[in-house]
Formats: sequence, structure tokens, C-alpha cells
Amino acid sequence: MRPLLFAANWKMQVTPEETRRFAGQFLGATAPVEGRALWFFPSAVSIGAAAEAFGTRSDVRIGAQDVHWEPKGAYTGATSVPLARGAGASGALVGHSERRHVFGETDEETGKKVRALLDAGCTPFLCVGEKLEEREAGKTEEVVLRQLRAGLAGVSPGEMDGLVVAYEPVWAIGTGRNATAEDAARVHMALRAEVSRLGGTGRIPILYGGSVNLGNALGLLAQPQVDGVLVGGASLDPDGWAEIVGIGG
Ligand code: PEP
Repeated sequence: MRPLLFAANWKMQVTPEETRRFAGQFLGATAPVEGRALWFFPSAVSIGAAAEAFGTRSDVRIGAQDVHWEPKGAYTGATSVPLARGAGASGALVGHSERRHVFGETDEETGKKVRALLDAGCTPFLCVGEKLEEREAGKTEEVVLRQLRAGLAGVSPGEMDGLVVAYEPVWAIGTGRNATAEDAARVHMALRAEVSRLGGTGRIPILYGGSVNLGNALGLLAQPQVDGVLVGGASLDPDGWAEIVGIGG
């Protein structure tokens, strides 16, 4: 079985207490599967609880949903990489569509966040994805490759395998609409080719995200170009998420 990565983005929900309850139920319903890595991205206030509650499982890692690129300073409300690390995170999402399109995060900022994470030995999950109007204008590849290049702007070829990329079409996130497995695979192939063109090995894991659920996950994961999934809504129920991470295993 090829390696697969399952990432849960809990967005602005799941308290520390709910995190502990989730972990108890989820860990009771699952066992590590060879080659499968599980990542949870709780709210910053629940990172510590998640790190503790999932701590016994070697296949589980915790990440932040966002980080600032500066290690410290007067940035009220922001979480630095050292703060996230200190709480138990070993990676972070960067450039999630809600950060880009609700909070105005720029391509340049994603590059700085990726660099800060790599410098701290953490795994950046660089998220890219086109808006509906960009897709309809035939600009999907142009947009995602621009976002990819910006995110990798300060990354040397030798470091590229240390990242994870997540292709998340904006129109598919939280909408119940998702790209077909073939569409996703085509975009993943273009992303992988661009990483190779930039000097990387092309072995970088590329996840698909956007309304993934038990009904469509198997079809997506059957595509050799899809190395895993990044999931919001369907990761919030411990039993449902346990079923998804066990799919085909
Ligand atoms: C996400 O938040 O990254 C996501 C893909 O959400 P959902 O699975 O709910 O579409």
C-alpha cells in the first residue's frame, strides 16, 4: 500500500475539552495502519490538548491552522511558529483559502510562513486552489501554479520534499461540491510537474481537499496522483473520521 496522509482541519471549533473527548473516541476506534500518517489541525487554543490526548499514537501529528512568519513581537492575535511548537505542533497549514480570501493573506506572506516553518523544522502544508470564476475562465492551473511558486519562493530544491501541498478548489470547500477524482488528479499532476521544474524530486505529497466525505474519499485516493486528503466538515465526528482514515486499509 502506498503512503497516504489524512489531515483534519477543525477550523474555528472544537474546544480543548471536546478535543480530549474526540481523541478518546477516535483512538478507541482506530489502530495505526502501515504507511498512513494522520494530522490534526485544531484551533490554536486546542493544540496543547490535542498533543497530549493523541500523544500515545506514533502515527498522529498535530499542526496549527496558521502561523505568523515572525518568531515573536507585537502581533496581537497571531501565533508564531515557536508558540505553536511549544504547544505541541510540528507543522501548520499555510495559505488555506479562508486565510487567503477571508483574511486577505497574500502569496508573498505564504512564502514567508513556509520559510519560517522550515527553519523551525516544522512541516508546512501549503494550500492552493482556484475560485469558481477562475475555474470558469479556464485559469485553474495558472492560479494554483502561481500560488505554488510563491509558497516555494524561498525554498531550495533539496527542501521541497519536506513540504506537503494541498489542492483545495475554493468552490469545493464546505460546499458539498467536489472536484472529480480525474480533475483533481490532473491538477495534482500539474503541481508535481512544477515542483520538478523548480528542481524538486516531485515526490512531494499532494493532498486533495474540498467536501471530501466517506462517499467520495475512496475514488479520490484511488488516483495515484492523490497522496491523501485534507478534510474539514467530515473530520469533526470521531467515528466518521475513523472510517475515512481506515478506508481501503
Ligand atoms: C478545509 O477546510 O480545508 C476543507 C476542505 O473543508 P471541507 O472538507 O469542509 O470542505
